[in-house]
Amino acid sequence: MDFTEAKKLDEADILAKFKSYFHNNENEIYLDGNSLGKPPKKSLELLKEIAENQWAEKLIEGWNEHWLNIPKRIKSKLGILLNADPSEIHVGDSTSVNLYKLAYAFIQTGKYKSINSDSLNFPSDLYILDQIGSSLLGKKLHVLKYATELNAEIELLKSAINKNPGIWCLSLVSYKSACLYDLQDLNRHAEDNNSLIIWDLSHATGVIDIDFKKSKTRAAVGCTYKFLNGGPGSPAFLYVDKSILPELKNPIAGWFGHANPFRFSDQYEAATDAGKFASGTPSILSMAGIEPAIDIIIEAGIKNIRNKSKRQIAFLIELTEKYLGPLGVKVEIPDKEENRGSHVSISHPEAYRICLAMKQADADKVKVIPDFRPPHYIRLGVSPLYTTFTELHWAILRISDIIQNQAYLRFENTYQNVP
Ligand SMILES: *Cc1c(COP(=O)(O)O)cnc(C)c1O
Repeated sequence: MDFTEAKKLDEADILAKFKSYFHNNENEIYLDGNSLGKPPKKSLELLKEIAENQWAEKLIEGWNEHWLNIPKRIKSKLGILLNADPSEIHVGDSTSVNLYKLAYAFIQTGKYKSINSDSLNFPSDLYILDQIGSSLLGKKLHVLKYATELNAEIELLKSAINKNPGIWCLSLVSYKSACLYDLQDLNRHAEDNNSLIIWDLSHATGVIDIDFKKSKTRAAVGCTYKFLNGGPGSPAFLYVDKSILPELKNPIAGWFGHANPFRFSDQYEAATDAGKFASGTPSILSMAGIEPAIDIIIEAGIKNIRNKSKRQIAFLIELTEKYLGPLGVKVEIPDKEENRGSHVSISHPEAYRICLAMKQADADKVKVIPDFRPPHYIRLGVSPLYTTFTELHWAILRISDIIQNQAYLRFENTYQNVP
């Protein structure tokens, strides 16, 4: 196999050194960057330190000595990454819970009479928005449907916003096709039409250069365990522009969102910053790993990361078309580079079994870890801090080999049963 071109690209890569900041399993090409990023070595050390030295030795003192500052520092660093003030960010809960709190708070202001999303959004978002629509507005969520699962039709979306002004929730990068929206353009359109977009940044944060101030983003939620590499179930974040924060109330007004939780007052008085969206005690053990991960992203530079991602996605598409196109594989990603996030979905009727075969070690003992999404998509995630061009080339040749030799036939087609 000739990897000359891929190797050349790796040698010229200005982000190459960052791979060694992460724990990398030997003989494994990890292309599932979307669902769970790799652990930074520093996060692993920190978690051990917190468990063994802080929790075990300090017990309750750990809160004042160490833990209360963790969410504060993460807010500041997310603020640097996204160009927001730390006071506009809450870190905690899951993305789903944060979306619930935020959408509920906006509808409760009485300013917005409808709740809307589109067919590329993530199922959890749709469930939550629909529930809020039913309970607060007495009407169902309106979901704008596009002709395909591939692309958002922007003109259609804009006219739907005109026709149905209200709260809109969109995923900045769609989880299936990696369709990337124009944040600034849509925010402006929404604002001009008495609407507000809550952005779900789960598949974007850490790999797309996002500037909340420049794009006039008013509200967003996002997870931290995908391209932010925060660890399994690491808490999510919520962002609200400070000009509208005073209008919003957290529907789960718990003590950690109080202006002064340790006064233990019987009267609830909300914090004035986005910290009001906290409800209970922060999940320190699952939150701590986020900080070293954001440090790496800031050190590498989000623009450099985005640049490398674009080049790797283009490389992956080129190889897929060359080697897998003739074998019946289709690339399911928007045409234009500026409309693409950092994963490539490819489709094949045997996608599920091909994924199973990829995860088995090959003759060179190498495993390739992709993502499967029903009904027939293989997602290949590119995480520029640790994905190499050579790995991408290897993965595509591996898929080609599996299809040509029908190696997937050894597996049972049982995806309906997969949790
Ligand atoms: C991964 C993902 C989530 C995850 O939600 P949790 O509540 O944190 O599990 C939400 N939205 C989108 C778009 C995602 O990709």
